[in-house]
Amino acid sequence: MSSRLPLVLCVVWASVATAAPVEPPRLAVVISIDQFRGDYLAKYGPYFGEGGFKRLVEGGTHFANSRHRHSITQTAPGHATILTGTFANVHGVTANEWIDRATWEQVNSVEDPASPLVGITPAELGPVAVGNPAKTGRSPRTLHAETVGDRLKAKYGDKAKIFAASNKDRSAILLGGRKADAAYWDENGKMVTSRYYRAALPAWVEAFNAEQRAHAAFGRTWDRLREPAIYEKLQGPDDEPAESDTAGLGRTFPRKITGGKDTLGPGFFTAFDNTPFAAEFLGAFVERAIVEEKLGKDAVTDLLCVGFSSIDAAGHTFGPDSHEVMDAVLRMDRTIAALLACLDREVGLANCVIVLSADHGVAPLPERVLATNPGASAGRVKSADVDAAAKKALDAAFGALPKGESWFTRDNLGYHLRPAALAAKTVDAAAAAKVVKAALEPLPYMAEVYTRAELVGPTDDGDAMPTLMRRSYRPASDRDVVFVFKPNWVGKAGSGTTHSLPYDYDQHVPQLYFGAGVPKGVMRSERVGVDAIAPTLAKLLGLDPPAQAKAKPVL
Ligand SMILES: [Zn+2]
Repeated sequence: MSSRLPLVLCVVWASVATAAPVEPPRLAVVISIDQFRGDYLAKYGPYFGEGGFKRLVEGGTHFANSRHRHSITQTAPGHATILTGTFANVHGVTANEWIDRATWEQVNSVEDPASPLVGITPAELGPVAVGNPAKTGRSPRTLHAETVGDRLKAKYGDKAKIFAASNKDRSAILLGGRKADAAYWDENGKMVTSRYYRAALPAWVEAFNAEQRAHAAFGRTWDRLREPAIYEKLQGPDDEPAESDTAGLGRTFPRKITGGKDTLGPGFFTAFDNTPFAAEFLGAFVERAIVEEKLGKDAVTDLLCVGFSSIDAAGHTFGPDSHEVMDAVLRMDRTIAALLACLDREVGLANCVIVLSADHGVAPLPERVLATNPGASAGRVKSADVDAAAKKALDAAFGALPKGESWFTRDNLGYHLRPAALAAKTVDAAAAAKVVKAALEPLPYMAEVYTRAELVGPTDDGDAMPTLMRRSYRPASDRDVVFVFKPNWVGKAGSGTTHSLPYDYDQHVPQLYFGAGVPKGVMRSERVGVDAIAPTLAKLLGLDPPAQAKAKPVL
């Protein structure tokens, strides 16, 4: 079954066919670049090399008008949607973290105490502190929908291999799905997995970790790849006071990557995660995986999922209009080029189907918006101010609670009303939610406030609110009140920026297909959802779509 298709035949298919080839591709590669906004390919395109993004765009079909169609535009739900083709109200992964109403504790989207980490000791994970909580186990147990990988396993059983790798646990785990042979992610410079997948790291992963490739970046200088004038022309000045100074990175080029310390410590890995070196590190790991796991080497389709996370870190720290993000994208182009060259060498690109997309975009630094347009509605929201307005209104309506009691627990942009407080005042949750809504709506940065009653409803009717909100809402366990800031109002105090809102800058991402069965050099402008990726990829691979996917294939 290992006969290789004549190359010339593949080329003919790739150039004229729109249907999947009769023999399925050997390898599907799904590349998700965290926070890779939909405008980046066009904006930075003139500065790309030949072998990376340009090779994919010119050799494939790009849907330049692709959107996430849910409201909580974060990493976990974004990645969960890419290969399930559905939304959090169905797949269950509403946000990166949420409050569990059974315990009133915050849980991580891929947390699973029953699946301890494999390949790293607690000592190597560093001291437990605020911002570095104890890492319990990890698995896709909160993911309740089928992925394209599940369909692959349903058709071929264990002959089809599924590997996922990312700088972040949630990106690897949620792309890989419940049936992945392994998901690997980076913890302080080591690629690790969890007991959900395997009891020990394979020898090749141990060998990769022993090379200490991330550690080797200690003291390395990150400077711009190209002339500073090119960056200034596109992005403005390098120094922007609203950029964060994270882990000794400072606000300007060039910078030495040390974590602000003389010796290698946890701060170094935080700094490293913000640099393109982290994407290069993951690229090297993925190339090793392709060779060592013999991906795409036989006639049964394998699936490789890759989640590059460093542009997200840089975007949070420096904003999308920074020299740093531009340089991270230009260097990402080189990492993609190396990966494509490896796939061509090991599998043959004509035997691959490649999909490139992202989990979400990002908001500009509000200070940048105001500098360009001083009259604009933009700024930073302090969550304590929102909490104070809600508490004041509840106290006024129902009387203050005894000291030490609280009306609610905040969860992303919303509140769970606490049953003990409601019982103490004999108030029902719906009445209290209405009071909170009335108090928050007049806040100058508030766009919309919804109560539970308004979030239980149809989720199929177009892409307007509250449909977007309902797709990110699980009625059985979700919040009593949910709110949305106005565009360009960032829920991050001080400096830097973030994402999580249902606006274009957070929802617009690339949707790029390349390889066997994909028309070449086509730019499509119609609006499509990221939820179309799973059914489209399934079709290209000759599979049924994942059970919960509703969108029609776009190819
Ligand atoms: Zn992010």
